[in-house]
Amino acid sequence: MRLVIMGPPGAGKGTQATVVATTLGVPHVSTGDLFRANVGEGTPLGLEAKRYMDAGEYVPDSVTNGMVRDRITQPDCHPGFLLDGYPRTLEQVNELDMMLAAASQSIDRVVELTVDTDEVVERLLKRAQEQGRADDTADVIRRRLEVYAEQTAPLTAVYAGRDLLVRVDGMGEVTEVTRRILSALAD
Ligand code: ADP
Repeated sequence: MRLVIMGPPGAGKGTQATVVATTLGVPHVSTGDLFRANVGEGTPLGLEAKRYMDAGEYVPDSVTNGMVRDRITQPDCHPGFLLDGYPRTLEQVNELDMMLAAASQSIDRVVELTVDTDEVVERLLKRAQEQGRADDTADVIRRRLEVYAEQTAPLTAVYAGRDLLVRVDGMGEVTEVTRRILSALAD
């Protein structure tokens, strides 16, 4: 199973992706987590990425694509993976297609988690208080939502056109949302 999970910041992608990947027995590949790990370790990639992340902007495709390529070509990703936070731009969609085509692979399904904007902002502000993530301030949250609407929301049309998109209601209890995702994937 090669899966992508999409949804606006605060939709609960990371939470759901962790559970779904474990249930399906595939690695959870989160670009946000990979960037944060690089920032934490102070790698050159982390130093580059941090400037963009702190402003709520996307890290340049050139940096992101290379990082994802390195990760999904690891042996543990050979049977499948769940991509969380990638692709986020049309260029990344094309790049991912090429990475997979090179190994005669393709994406099997794209899950879009839908939530309402007010709820999302509330969740992110709550997470800011609990975890203190640098990009969870009100201004940066607003910017991340704008960037998502401009650059990433259009990707759902691309995957819908390929008949790969499943929309899942992301509102409600975490376990209920997980159940919805797994049942949508089983269809
Ligand atoms: P969220 O979806 O809640 O914004 P993530 O943890 O997925 O959080 O991502 C945090 C930040 O990492 C993003 O705001 C962006 O700066 C960067 N990032 C993550 N994935 C990508 C990507 N595919 N392309 C560019 N930047 C990315």
